[in-house]
Formats: sequence, structure tokens, C-alpha cells
Amino acid sequence: MYKELLTEIESKHAKLLAVSKTKSNEEILELYQKGQRLFGENRVQELLPKYEALPKDISWHLIGHLQSNKVKFIAPFVKMIHSIDSFKLLEECNRQAAKCSRTIDVLLQIHIAKEETKFGLSEPELFQLLDQLGERPLKNIRIAGLMGMATNTHNETVVAAEFEGLRLLFDKVKQNYFPGQHQFCELSMGMSSDYKIALEHGATIIRIGSLLFGAR
Ligand SMILES: *Cc1c(COP(=O)(O)O)cnc(C)c1O
Repeated sequence: MYKELLTEIESKHAKLLAVSKTKSNEEILELYQKGQRLFGENRVQELLPKYEALPKDISWHLIGHLQSNKVKFIAPFVKMIHSIDSFKLLEECNRQAAKCSRTIDVLLQIHIAKEETKFGLSEPELFQLLDQLGERPLKNIRIAGLMGMATNTHNETVVAAEFEGLRLLFDKVKQNYFPGQHQFCELSMGMSSDYKIALEHGATIIRIGSLLFGAR
């Protein structure tokens, strides 16, 4: 399964992020031994012991909702945070990254799903945040792109429209706020159930859990 999935994703010039939440260190190591280095967790409390125990050349991505008071725990090592949804959270990431003399890559999470429960910025909130950043640049943060989660539905037309909307938004932000800048280059969308659709609509990071590790 792993090799086929990797080949499929890489053939579309995207990266596979293995979502290892609820999975044991042994299960993670099994994938590591096949060559996987990008892993994603959605809770800080679960990420910390895994970071401690597992090989240090793993790139850890935080993909779940993040509280400001937890940023300090992951700032020393986290490779990318996918779930930035406020300027206040960005400022805290910047402050903690500066303390560690690091730059942290972040994605701005956009609310694209129909469900109320999913986190993320609306379009107006996104542009407000980008304007705030324009006035007050944060030196230890690199805005690397956008992230989104589609509605949890079997209706592929709905999912495709949401992913296409996110890609158009990505293009617009790149053009207006990061013209010619290589840093704004990642579009994190697609999970086990909808990754094929995400690949068709320009995803560069696919976040896969259950398809790789089995159902949780
Ligand atoms: C769990 C999770 C995934 C992976 O979901 P699967 O359906 O298991 O592939 C992707 N993104 C986020 C934000 C998650 O929390």
C-alpha cells in the first residue's frame, strides 16, 4: 500500500504526510523504515512523547487545532504548523520560534467545509490577517501556504468544488501578497477519503492516516 500511494502522490508532484495520531511508535517506525520522514499529529500532548522517542530526522507537522499556550512545547522542533487560524496564534508562534532562534513554516487554515465544527479562517478573516502581517511582519515565521479540510461527504462534486475554491484562493493570495516569492508554495488538502480529488485540484501536501495505518 505505502509504495503505491507514495508513487501516486509523487507523480502529481505532491508530498505524502503520514498522519500518525493514535498510532504507536512501533507502527510509526515501520513506516519510517520504508523511508517515510514526514509525519503529522493533531495533538501537542501526543506529539511530544513521540518526538522524544523517535528518530530525530523525522519532520513533524502539527495539523490539529493549536492553543497559544501549547506553542512553546513544539517550537523547538516542529517543522510545519498547518492549523494557524488567528493573528494572535501567529504572534505566539513567532515569539516562541525567536526564543529558539528558529523559523517555523506555517500554513493558514481556511474553513472550506459546510460543517460548522471545522476550524479555520473565513476569506475575509484571511485577508485581514494578511493585511495585519503586512503592517507587522513576523521575522521567525514563514507563511508557506494554505490548508483546508473538505466537507465529510460522499458527494464528490461538493468536495471537488471546495478543493477548487481553496486552490483559487491560494492563487489569489500568492499573486497579491507573495508575488514571485518561493516561500508561499504549499497547499495542504486531501485525506484518505478524498486525496485523489485533492491531487486533481493542485494539492502539494496530502495528509493520510487511516489508508496507511488502518482505521483508528
Ligand atoms: C486525522 C486527520 C487527517 C487524516 O485523516 P484520515 O482520514 O485518517 O486520512 C488529516 N488531516 C487532519 C487535520 C486530521 O486530523
